[in-house]
Amino acid sequence: MKPLEKIIRKEIRAKGPMRLDRYMALALTHPDHGYYTSQDPLGAGGDFITAPEISQMFGELVGLWMADMWHRMGQPADVIIAEAGPGRGTLMADALRAIRRAAPALAARPVWLIEASPALKKVQETALGDADIHWTDGSDPLPRTSPMLLVANEFLDALPVRQIIMRDGELREHAVDIVDNALTMVDAPLAAAVPDGLPLLNEGEIVEIGPGREDWVEAVAFHIAENGGAALLIDYGHEATAPGDTVQAMKKHAYHPVLEKPGTADLTAHVDFAAVARAGWRDGTSVFGPIGQRQFLLRLGMEARLAQLLKSADGPTANNLTAGFRRLTDPTHMGHLFKVLCLSATANGTPTGYGDDETFSDRT
Ligand code: SAH
Repeated sequence: MKPLEKIIRKEIRAKGPMRLDRYMALALTHPDHGYYTSQDPLGAGGDFITAPEISQMFGELVGLWMADMWHRMGQPADVIIAEAGPGRGTLMADALRAIRRAAPALAARPVWLIEASPALKKVQETALGDADIHWTDGSDPLPRTSPMLLVANEFLDALPVRQIIMRDGELREHAVDIVDNALTMVDAPLAAAVPDGLPLLNEGEIVEIGPGREDWVEAVAFHIAENGGAALLIDYGHEATAPGDTVQAMKKHAYHPVLEKPGTADLTAHVDFAAVARAGWRDGTSVFGPIGQRQFLLRLGMEARLAQLLKSADGPTANNLTAGFRRLTDPTHMGHLFKVLCLSATANGTPTGYGDDETFSDRT
């Protein structure tokens, strides 16, 4: 048995069934044995692959978005660039290359990376060696009091969720227990209050809530309201809060049992964009979208960028570029399931990539 499973079992024996969000937090970011903290899980040889690892165009377009937003904001000299969960640093490296061409003064500004993984920090340091990089471990998501342009791709899905379940007419919640000597999901009494306004559940239905996610998004929205700036939150998920069990583990690009060998597989939950948008809405910060990743990338000019890159590409490179474009934008791949939500200082007006009528409308 791996050390992390021993630690989890010991805590369950001492304190009783472990709430799912606690289990996810330990599996992903336990300081010594967590999935992210102990290794580099990304890329073709890893467990899953993400948009910036699929195509350089993804990060380039995010960089152009940042440059454009910075101009809209009146080019504040004290702006910082930020990324939450930067993985291998690929998105930021591609973004900075594009920003250097579009807005060189912005590319010279400090880049703050919110990262819990010492292993990935090393990879990021190599990828971003020539930029002015600073790290924070995520306990404080907001490193400075300057206007901020932030991106987070596949970060929110890694922040833990609770699963609330209707059992015999009563709300209970999923927790991990030891049954017949195996880690087993059980229905435990609610360990803490649940927010108002959850959808009505039928017997056996589950709804997921992400208190840690919402706190994090609230902190970003607060920073933007106070200091200016904008954030792009990109992830897979749904537009409305709805019942469903979306917690999943991935290993070597295949699904893996959620409770098997914790810390050896990625563990995520789909993002409830309605909950995230509600958390992000406050006086001074407006919320736009979510819109599909396809729509967002096409509006930022991905087709033109593809055409430009194809002009100087050899055969295999051209095939890669075209395949990457399809994978990121095709509705049957990542174009629809992946969504892009924008928090933006109200003073910025409508952010790049969104229409005036695309403010988030569900404010209940
Ligand atoms: N954005 C990258 C990587 C996504 S994987 C990409 O698109 O390729 C998730 C990233 O979030 C990793 O860098 C992981 O180490 C980081 N992460 C996960 N949970 C975290 C937490 N609680 N605090 C800070 N970083 C976290």
